[in-house]
Amino acid sequence: MRILRGSNAPAVLATIVPIVRGWAAYYRGVVSKRIFATLDSHMWRLTYKWAKYSHANKPKTWITRRYFGRFNPARADRWVFGDRASGAHLPRFAWTKIVRHQLVPGRASPDDPALAQYWADRRRKAPPPLDRTTLRPIRTQGGRCPLCGDTLLYADREPNCPREWEQWLTGIRKAISRHNLAATPNPDKPDDARIRLVHSACQRRSNTGATRRNGTSEHLHSR
Ligand SMILES: [Zn+2]
Repeated sequence: MRILRGSNAPAVLATIVPIVRGWAAYYRGVVSKRIFATLDSHMWRLTYKWAKYSHANKPKTWITRRYFGRFNPARADRWVFGDRASGAHLPRFAWTKIVRHQLVPGRASPDDPALAQYWADRRRKAPPPLDRTTLRPIRTQGGRCPLCGDTLLYADREPNCPREWEQWLTGIRKAISRHNLAATPNPDKPDDARIRLVHSACQRRSNTGATRRNGTSEHLHSR
């Protein structure tokens, strides 16, 4: 937050939100509600300090009115830091549900076939911390890519540090928003306008295949 002094609220959010999401996702299995609440107070103080620094001559009420509010309509929380122009806001740690699962046995690898059931159970018990709209297409597809049948969620293993969670959550969000924009219909059910999530590599392969079948790909080969 100190580095972000002099930046505007959208820049602060673009930097901080993915980090908070990554940490909340990783630690949701090992901390208590109380610790998440403490982290939220900590983030509140950091964002308030940042705002005060950005507007040194403004009174406290001006600052809180400008940067804090009930940005998440699903939560009765008036002290969320956000950007009034875009509605973007800093999620609270407390919004990520704490999950309880057994500790991973020492040196357990998700690639070990003997532990396949353990990992399957663990995944079922702890769905990734995504909102319901994002989770729905993943759930209806049974967590799999319809083109190759392989698992969509975690390529080989669940992310296992805050930074990996950050990258994974950012990737999934991007994938989903792209699909919304592309609105690629399911070729097997042309009337079905629902979003399908596929690996981007599978999508590319399937596009190339379709082009070849239509006989319009000659120029691709002449490169
Ligand atoms: Zn695939």
